Amino acid sequence: MPDVLTYVLHYEGAFNKNSLGAVSEGAARAQEIGGECHAVVVGGDDLSDELCQSLGGYGATKVFRGKGPEGLAQPVIDVMAKVIDENGHAYALFGGGLLGFEIGAGLAARKQAGVTMEVTAVRADDGKLVAERPILQDSKISVSHYRGDLGIIIGRINAFEIRQSDGASAEVADVEVELSPWSTKATMVQRGEQRGADVDIEGADILVAGGRGLGKAENFSLAEELAKAFGGNSAVAATRAVVDAGWYPYAAQIGQTGKTVSPKLYLAAGISGAIQHKVGMQSSENIVAINKDANAPIFEFSDLGIVGDLNKILPKLTEAIKAKKGS
Ligand SMILES: Cc1cc2nc3c(=O)[nH]c(=O)nc-3n(C[C@H](O)[C@H](O)[C@H](O)COP(=O)(O)OP(=O)(O)OC[C@H]3O[C@@H](n4cnc5c(N)ncnc54)[C@H](O)[C@@H]3O)c2cc1C
Repeated sequence: MPDVLTYVLHYEGAFNKNSLGAVSEGAARAQEIGGECHAVVVGGDDLSDELCQSLGGYGATKVFRGKGPEGLAQPVIDVMAKVIDENGHAYALFGGGLLGFEIGAGLAARKQAGVTMEVTAVRADDGKLVAERPILQDSKISVSHYRGDLGIIIGRINAFEIRQSDGASAEVADVEVELSPWSTKATMVQRGEQRGADVDIEGADILVAGGRGLGKAENFSLAEELAKAFGGNSAVAATRAVVDAGWYPYAAQIGQTGKTVSPKLYLAAGISGAIQHKVGMQSSENIVAINKDANAPIFEFSDLGIVGDLNKILPKLTEAIKAKKGS
C-alpha cells in the first residue's frame, strides 16, 4: 500500500503544531492514493501510550515509537529508516522547520530518495503524490514527481493545515533501533525559545508589522521601538518574506501560512500587501500602511496610506507617540 510516514516532534507532553499539520496532510493525501498515514515519534518515558494514540485524532492509523533523544535529527533518521525498510512506506512527509529540514534531508541521503523542500501543497495524481513548491520569489510553482520507491516531501513551516477529527485512537508499536554510532555523538544541552516567540500577536490590540522594506534584520528595532511607544497590548509582527530570511521569528508571521489577526490597529511598514499576507490581517479594525511605492497593493485595503521612506517615518512616529504620551 502507498503509505505515508510522518515525523511528529513533541515537547513537554504536547505535540508540535507544525508536525500535527503534517500528520493531517499525510492522512488526507494517503487516503486519496489508497494508503494510510503513520507517524514516528522518538523520545523517552514521556511518550505515553495515551499521547501517541491521540495522533489518531489527526488521521494517523499507526504510531511507531522509538527510544532516543528528542529534538536531534540523526536518531530520528535511524528510526525512520528502519520503519521504512520494514514497512515499505512510499512517502515521508515533514512539516518543515529546521528539524524537519535536517531529518528529511538526512533521510533522503540515507535512502537515496528524491526530496522536495519548502513544499506548500501536496496532491494526488494518478495514484501518486506530487509536491508543489513556489520558486522565483513565489512567482511560479515548481511541481515535483517522484520516481523511486520513496519520495520525501518537506513542507514550509505551518504550510499544512491541522485537521482534528473525532477522538480516533492510533495503534502504537514500539520500534527497537540500534542507533548509529554518529547518532549518539550530539546531545541536547539546552532548549530555548526564539526572540519574540512568546509574544501573543493573535491577542494584541496594536500590531506593528514589518516587511522586506525594512531592509535588514537589525531594522526590526524600528518596529519594536514603535510598538514599545504605543505600550499596552502592542506587539511586532512580520511577513513571510522576512521570517524566511531569518530577520524575525516564525511565531510572528501573519498570513496564509502564518497567523490570522484582527487587532484594533495594524500598522504595516515596508509590506507590499500580497494576497497571502492580506488574508491574515484584512479583518483588522484600522489598517495603516507605510510604503515608498504609491502603487503598492497594500494601499488598496488600507484605511490610511503614507507614501514615503519608513526609515524616516517610523522614528518620527515613535517620537510623536512618546511626546503625546508624555514619556
Ligand atoms: C503558498 C504561499 C503562502 C504564503 N504565505 C504567506 C504568509 O503567510 N504571509 C506572508 O506575509 N506572505 C506569504 N507568502 C509570500 C507572499 O506572496 C509575499 O511574497 C510576501 O508577503 C511579501 O512580503 P513583503 O511584503 O515583506 O515583501 P515584498 O513583497 O518584497 O514588499 C516589500 C515592500 O516594501 C516596500 N519598501 C521597500 N523599501 C521601503 C522603504 N525604505 N520604505 C517604505 N517601503 C519600502 C516596497 O515598495 C515593497 O512594497 C506566501 C506565498 C505563497 C506562495
